[in-house]
Amino acid sequence: MVDLLYVTKNKEGRTLSKEERRNKVLELLNKAKAMELQAIHQYMHQHYILDDRDFGELAAKVKLIAIDEMRHAEALAERIKELGGEPTTELAGPVVKGQDVKDIFPFDANEEDEAIDTYGQFANICRENGDTISASLFEMIIEHEQAHFNYFDNVDNHIKTLGDTYLSNLAGTPSATGPSKGFAFPSGGE
Ligand code: FE
Ligand code: FE
Repeated sequence: MVDLLYVTKNKEGRTLSKEERRNKVLELLNKAKAMELQAIHQYMHQHYILDDRDFGELAAKVKLIAIDEMRHAEALAERIKELGGEPTTELAGPVVKGQDVKDIFPFDANEEDEAIDTYGQFANICRENGDTISASLFEMIIEHEQAHFNYFDNVDNHIKTLGDTYLSNLAGTPSATGPSKGFAFPSGGE
């Protein structure tokens, strides 16, 4: 996690130079890019599990959310390139495999909640370092992560309160996602 004590000053208390501030922003953008790459792989894996178990509607939504995360990774990479950095290809952490359907939604709600909190801190640090474009990018992404959180949390609550009745109603539902679009990017985001 980011050391909030050294946002605009170094450890000796000296105010950061323009280049040091840009490098700090680049570090955050790349941390976020790695988080998005992890989310993409996690959600794609879950989408296959849900498809295999024939929960088409849930699979389709998780696929669309993975596509949103791909657009986030792209947007972050474009900003990294704009600032003269090199977009990372590393994942922030390992993909959890073989989850049960009931475990997927609370897990994902927690991932989104963590991303909202982290990106909120990143946006503030970008702004304190004078980079309002990167701050706005994080704020745009946070709105999408909130929509993702709301969906995952809703499904988790339905499963917890209605259990197998809810899930059996979703068995055999279609998994088609239609032409290129996302979850929080309904028109494709272009
Ligand atoms: Fe994302
Ligand atoms: Fe998300």
